[in-house]
Amino acid sequence: MDMEGLQEKLVPAFEWFHRHPELGYAEFETTARIREILAGLGVEILDTGLETGLVARIGNAGIRSGKPVVALRGDIDGLPITEDSGLPYASETPGRMHACGHDFHTTAILGAAILLAEKKATLPGTVKLIFQPAEETAGGAAKVLATGALDDVREIYGLHVSPDLPPGQIGVSPGATFAAVGGFKITIRGKGGHAGYPHLTRDPIIALGQIIATAQSIVSRNANPFDPSVVSITHVEGGNTWNVIPPEAFIEGTIRSLGTEKYKCIAERLGEIVKGVELTSGTRIDYTWNMSSPAIDNDPALAVFVADTAQELGLAAGPSIPCMGGEDFSLYQQRIKGVFWNIGIGGAEGIHHPRFIAGPAPLSSAASLLARLAEKALVRLSST
Ligand SMILES: [Zn+2]
Ligand SMILES: [Zn+2]
Repeated sequence: MDMEGLQEKLVPAFEWFHRHPELGYAEFETTARIREILAGLGVEILDTGLETGLVARIGNAGIRSGKPVVALRGDIDGLPITEDSGLPYASETPGRMHACGHDFHTTAILGAAILLAEKKATLPGTVKLIFQPAEETAGGAAKVLATGALDDVREIYGLHVSPDLPPGQIGVSPGATFAAVGGFKITIRGKGGHAGYPHLTRDPIIALGQIIATAQSIVSRNANPFDPSVVSITHVEGGNTWNVIPPEAFIEGTIRSLGTEKYKCIAERLGEIVKGVELTSGTRIDYTWNMSSPAIDNDPALAVFVADTAQELGLAAGPSIPCMGGEDFSLYQQRIKGVFWNIGIGGAEGIHHPRFIAGPAPLSSAASLLARLAEKALVRLSST
């Protein structure tokens, strides 16, 4: 199929997905539509037990045949945002919007399916197509991995739209391009009392202030200035009136770092600060942190492979723009060698904005790149 024909097929599908955004694990209509399109192409859908999202397969039998398996991943969920784009195909549901371009990713993977299905008989292996639920809530990738459907996959490829790149331009870099992301909670238990008699209390508000102030030294004094990271305190609570020292106070916030190990160091350093304040304030402090997704960790050779293949297809390719957002594609990369790149869509507003627009113009390029990468990866893997 030529690029024009492909684009003509993809635009109506994209507009349908854009009109029908659904939140993580509620992507029932979206999944039904994807199933329908794949069934029309004669593509096999695997029995994974996933309630929403799916994994499909094109090509020859899996690992037992000795032939390689690679995967292409798109995510399918929308966000709890009311769309204000003014598009003729804007969301039909108030409070739901495809504001992160997952409708674009879904359509691009379907486009790759169209191209790969045409070559099904000659593919030197199998391509698995992942339509992942619940990326925004960061649980979907783990759920797909838990099905075992990717156990035989040797390389995995994924993309994300970027409003910061011109339409159709590819941004790809080795290593961390999306941050390790997570949060922390700190509960300070002191001893409340009359504000005029502080010596009879263990003031949790002072401890809270010390933690907030000292936490700012982690990025500025402990982290390497060449390793971007963020500690943001976003929620504090303590007390409810002017003349009472409360018994408890609470802090929560987020840590982000372009490196999974660096993230852990920052989280542990915050724990040491908390311990120090606990000791000097005489309060008891509970500190917990989590990492909802590790950093994207692009395989250097595969990053070059994506840039070279994009250029072969006539697409401009440069480095990606590092992002302090998280992406649970990183969970696949902890088990499977993989690469995640950006494709430019232009546009005035950033992702997660009510006026965000992922223009459909680069859809056929995105699909061709995905299909070409899968095909070339199978050829390379079957000859080694
Ligand atoms: Zn998002
Ligand atoms: Zn996204």
